[in-house]
Amino acid sequence: MAAWSERLAGVRGVLLDISGVLHDSGEGGGVPIPGSVEALARLKRSQLKVRFCTNESQKSRGDLVGLLRHMGFDISEGEVTAPAPATCLILKERGLRPHLLIHDGIRSEFAQIDTSNPNCVVIADAGESFSYQNMNKAFQVLMELDNPVLISLGKGRYYKETSGLMLDVGAYTKALEYACGIKAEVVGKPAPGYFQSALQEMGVESHEAIMIGDDIVGDVGGAQRCGMRALQVRTGKFRFYIYLTLTCVHGMRPSDEHHPEVKADGYVDNLAEAVDLLLKYAHQ
Ligand SMILES: [Mg+2]
Repeated sequence: MAAWSERLAGVRGVLLDISGVLHDSGEGGGVPIPGSVEALARLKRSQLKVRFCTNESQKSRGDLVGLLRHMGFDISEGEVTAPAPATCLILKERGLRPHLLIHDGIRSEFAQIDTSNPNCVVIADAGESFSYQNMNKAFQVLMELDNPVLISLGKGRYYKETSGLMLDVGAYTKALEYACGIKAEVVGKPAPGYFQSALQEMGVESHEAIMIGDDIVGDVGGAQRCGMRALQVRTGKFRFYIYLTLTCVHGMRPSDEHHPEVKADGYVDNLAEAVDLLLKYAHQ
């Protein structure tokens, strides 16, 4: 791999994933990842532009920012690209009235949206509300529409909480796609339009921007497809080698660093290491 000075040269803007980079979510709001509060503060004192790009769809943007500020992070609502506000814009633009399969924590984001006589389904990380009954209701709404529209807030496979890995909205979106024979529209990473709106809000061209995330597919792969560079942190959901030591099976599942399709522009232990490198080599 080329030297860091080459890989990071010309970076002017940094897009930061939140969960798994700044903190691990979980019981009581979760915990900051060691070193991340200080690393973000250093990054924000630099000349680099910073924006946050999250797929969080269990909490409203205001609640998420409040939680992070309480942990000591220097972050404000206006700096965060989040899927719920982006979805509301789309719903209004297209005159869509959603049936909402979402977590109660983001219901307030949709307060201004007409949900009567639904002509689409919006699905987000509903957590415990992903019951058979609620999934089936969303399925029925879609099947009754002539032109079924399914909007998915992100399409993540899983994420990490302090208690372990958690199944994400993507698995449920796939179930509805399969049952209804349709394809969901994704508002969130890795959809190119979502990264592009974050870049626009940051005021930086894709070739001058770098994404830092813990998801090799959603963060790294998605950003690279938009012409950005991307670093993967070895925190959050990052997968190390898993050794199988069953009696008759010896082998290992490759880590994210050996993903068959996506190769990050660099792998770092955590946000603190990423910021050290950026402050040293970007902007040259
Ligand atoms: Mg993440």
